[in-house]
Amino acid sequence: MTGEKSSLSTERIAERILEIGFSCTRCGDCCRGFSDDNNLVMVSPPEIRRISEALNVPRDEIAEPYPESIVLENGTSLTFEWAIRRVHGECRFFRDGRCLVYECRPWICRTYPFMIEGEELRVFPCSGLGGSISPEDALACARDLLSRREAEENEEERIREVLASPLPEGKERMIVDSEGVTLL
Ligand code: SF4
Repeated sequence: MTGEKSSLSTERIAERILEIGFSCTRCGDCCRGFSDDNNLVMVSPPEIRRISEALNVPRDEIAEPYPESIVLENGTSLTFEWAIRRVHGECRFFRDGRCLVYECRPWICRTYPFMIEGEELRVFPCSGLGGSISPEDALACARDLLSRREAEENEEERIREVLASPLPEGKERMIVDSEGVTLL
């Protein structure tokens, strides 16, 4: 992403959400993965910290390295960001049909099934689509979507800064996020 400002306004996004319709059916499908790469919730250090402080548990109990990496010419494997841990394919915070960290859930969960991609509102499969939503809730959702995009752009910018400095040598696997490099 670049620092260019989008022409998508809060009102325009809310209008689209009202047209599409959405009401959460509490099916829990977005919290359950059906394959290794499905429904993964990517999280940044600030998102992990919010959950960590709310539950008083360390990062490693909340998140694990995102399961995708690139391999550099020197053989070092670089992973970007983290993913909420899963247990038996489900988010570890999904319990008895509810989210244990609802108040501090990550941006992806907060804005599902929507996402802003470029100038478009992207919509993911969800049983709640087409449901009734009030103009106020659509506006709140639109604000969350824009806040999410801003948070993601900030995260990407900081990662670029981290990558602009020399990476540690002699390590085979590293996680890069907005707060630096974690060696594994
Ligand atoms: S953090 Fe909460 S909302 Fe997000 S996937 Fe896990 S249980 Fe679902």
